[in-house]
Amino acid sequence: MDKALTSSRTKKGGIFPPGLFSIWAMLQAVVWLIGLSIFASLIFIPSTGLLVFWNMLIPVAPALLVLGTGIWRNICPLATTTLLPRHWHVSRRKKMSVALQGRLQLAAVLALFGIVPLRHILFNRSGPSTALLLSVLASTGFVMGIFFDWKSGWCSSLCPVHPVEKLYGGNPVYSFANAHCTQCVNCSIPCPDSTPNFRPAMAARNYSQRLAGWLITGGLPGFIWGWFHVSDQPGRSGRADLLQAYAMPLAGLLVTLCLYMLLKTVVHKTHERQLSGIFAASGVSCYYWYRIPALLGFGPYSGDGLLISLRDVIPSWSATALALCTTLFFFWWLLVRKPSQKSWVIRPPYAPRTTQ
Ligand code: SF4
Repeated sequence: MDKALTSSRTKKGGIFPPGLFSIWAMLQAVVWLIGLSIFASLIFIPSTGLLVFWNMLIPVAPALLVLGTGIWRNICPLATTTLLPRHWHVSRRKKMSVALQGRLQLAAVLALFGIVPLRHILFNRSGPSTALLLSVLASTGFVMGIFFDWKSGWCSSLCPVHPVEKLYGGNPVYSFANAHCTQCVNCSIPCPDSTPNFRPAMAARNYSQRLAGWLITGGLPGFIWGWFHVSDQPGRSGRADLLQAYAMPLAGLLVTLCLYMLLKTVVHKTHERQLSGIFAASGVSCYYWYRIPALLGFGPYSGDGLLISLRDVIPSWSATALALCTTLFFFWWLLVRKPSQKSWVIRPPYAPRTTQ
């Protein structure tokens, strides 16, 4: 057996026992503490917290989901929190039905599309509100973790980031050790972590899962495009402001979703992977097309999404050139490159039937 594979199978273990001193456990602890610091700064020094969370951490996330989904699945601080009941052996370890998984996966997509537009009128400029949002997500995941086994309660069902992981993480370059599950109990079918070249269409066992897959694959590129055409409107929460925050993202979502559904009917099933890759690459490329200029001070809405203004330092075309490079790169990574036949992480040994 491949030596690297064997060694990575033996080096697993969550943040707390077992495997307290493994590399992954230490990474989980460090990232969790960084997450906690950001959370505290959102409350006590909101200007810093907002800058770090929305303009440093979040802009890195889509690229990380494309390039190293398995790394994120292993060290995400929210995942670490929601899996604590399982690591601490206080979870009831219920088996979730595929029907419920489907409904929760659909809810995750709807939550993503429901929450993100609120950044413009609330979260982008309010540290305490962002902290409250994170608390609600973490608490919900923690409670789900008390009832359901491993990642079925949150990471592979209700987490609003998970639909994006499934779309962007379709061609991983390396399978990492699974740093959470000590034994596989088939908690999620199919397991997104352990299935090679996983994409939303692979989880289509019921109508909810199919609908969730169509919405995220077809709708996300347009949703992102629309989102970047709305400026921040902090402190405004009237009906007209809400309408403004949601109108463009949802209109964009509808357009690319219709396009996707149309293409699905004419593209043969054997090319489903390529179709999914086109929409995945379009989504992440669209994100950086607008995000990179905004981070460097060249965005259309002054101050929105700004990390550091380089307006007087570099010409504006260099930000566009950088964005163009990322577009070419993501299309190559997700579409042109051969399917890697790798999963995000390596499935741990199956648990004996009696312990499932
Ligand atoms: S590896 Fe097994 S136990 Fe872990 S998330 Fe996947 S299906 Fe669940």
